[in-house]
Amino acid sequence: MEQPVNVDPRELEKFSALAHRWWDPNSEFKPLHDINPLRLGWIEQVAGGLAGKAVVDVGCGGGILSEAMALRGALVTGIDLADKPLKVAKLHLLESGNKVEYRKMAVEELAREQPSHYDVVTCMEMLEHVPDPQSTVRACAELAKPGGHVFFATLNRNPKSFLFAIVGAEYVLNLLPKGTHEYAKFIRPSELGRMARNAELSVEQIVGMSYNPFSRVYSLGADTSVNYIMHCLR
Ligand code: SAH
Repeated sequence: MEQPVNVDPRELEKFSALAHRWWDPNSEFKPLHDINPLRLGWIEQVAGGLAGKAVVDVGCGGGILSEAMALRGALVTGIDLADKPLKVAKLHLLESGNKVEYRKMAVEELAREQPSHYDVVTCMEMLEHVPDPQSTVRACAELAKPGGHVFFATLNRNPKSFLFAIVGAEYVLNLLPKGTHEYAKFIRPSELGRMARNAELSVEQIVGMSYNPFSRVYSLGADTSVNYIMHCLR
């Protein structure tokens, strides 16, 4: 029997509508460009290097992180369910000369096709856009080899994250289009930790990613109150 796909089409439309600007570092995607070196460095360090590793980037969008990991020598597969971002991702490879295999498919489907296949699984800034994040977390876990690394990045849920990620980013600083994020879909680290353990992952570390609106600089650190990345092992 066909299983229903864990996706909200309105979410895909939001990303498709903006996709042509994905690689413009001054566009709506500026925050992703700005955080990319930070998250790449952390993932690479925690995973003990990326060269030669099989990596899947779940919800890869236009491929900002996928390409960066490929440049570090990883063999990267990027999956997403939105058409236009994937088209942009593929077109960008022509320009950059990097190699990434992009596929339009649900993570649950790839997990059935290639269980226990990847050294590193990344799922960044996507969980807060899916109807059933537990299903996504489980599929990400299944994609990893035993001992493999799984990274999730999402938004915490508390008054400060509401103020920073929605009021600040969407209404005051105009970093993101209004309506990009829905507060109710933000996920506390404790909730994500529970989802990870339900999927038989062990939670290893959490790092915060904070934005200083005055200096306009992002940094990694102990403050997980707004954006954070969780590292798990299968
Ligand atoms: N991970 C990328 C892009 C984040 S934007 C990065 O951090 O640079 C969120 C992405 O999640 C979009 O490309 C959107 O199309 C994708 N997405 C949202 N819901 C999805 C789903 N159910 N399955 C796959 N991708 C999804």
